[in-house]
Amino acid sequence: LEEQLLQAQKMESVGRLAGGVAHDFNNMLSVILGNIELAMSTLSADAPVQARLNIVKDAAKRSANLTQQLLAFARQQPVSPRLLDLNATVEEMLKMLRRLIGEDIELTWIPGKNLGSVNVDPSQLDQILVNLCVNARDAIGDTGKMSITTQNVTIDQALSSVYSEIPPGQYVMLAVSDNGCGMDKGTLLHLFEPFFTTKSQGKGTGLGLATVYGIVTQNNGFIDVSSVPGKETVFKIYLPLHVPPSDASIDTVETDEPIRG
Ligand code: ADP
Repeated sequence: LEEQLLQAQKMESVGRLAGGVAHDFNNMLSVILGNIELAMSTLSADAPVQARLNIVKDAAKRSANLTQQLLAFARQQPVSPRLLDLNATVEEMLKMLRRLIGEDIELTWIPGKNLGSVNVDPSQLDQILVNLCVNARDAIGDTGKMSITTQNVTIDQALSSVYSEIPPGQYVMLAVSDNGCGMDKGTLLHLFEPFFTTKSQGKGTGLGLATVYGIVTQNNGFIDVSSVPGKETVFKIYLPLHVPPSDASIDTVETDEPIRG
């Protein structure tokens, strides 16, 4: 528990720092980008310096992209949770995800029955899906298989002692599996830390899973990871099932409240 607390504090401070820097950086990048575009438009299209300016523009755009990720990680965007059906969310994203992972990776989608809803900001769910799918794609490399599944899961006392970090309760679970490179113990130990990446420079930022971790904990959910090096990885995201208040409890609330008019 102490380690989790430490991890959470670390994430919090890195997040705040990154968010502050990212915010200022983003403003300066808009100045850079705006002026490059202006300069390029005032020069003739075949001026030799255009190629140089294009390189600057691309680099500035890439930096802006990274800054966006930093900002998202620092959770500076306001969140508006909504009651969502996870199956519908995945289905809406499926086309985009297929394009993201490419044609050589086979993606299977298995929606769970009677899922129930979760109370989460839709764009946060999109972020979870995209990050997990990008990682699965990168772990697979060329060809392989991936699956996305959802399931309504009840964690009782017995199961809770197996999944030591997940308290008993009702959850909607989203799993993303791949038969890629898997992870060794060292990677498993650090994978949620901000800026931890095993990917080559320019490919990974080490912010994907830190972002997922931030979103899931913010929504009182849990993550379970299992991986076999050289074989497969499964990420399971547990989000609390939204339980609608029963009529009885609504009644109590109403009678307890002073009548306003
Ligand atoms: P990034 O993708 O930028 O490296 P992440 O935080 O998303 O950052 O991931 C951190 C690291 O966790 C990755 O560099 C990789 O080593 C490992 N990882 C994440 N997902 C998987 C996966 N599905 N299979 C194997 N390794 C993974």
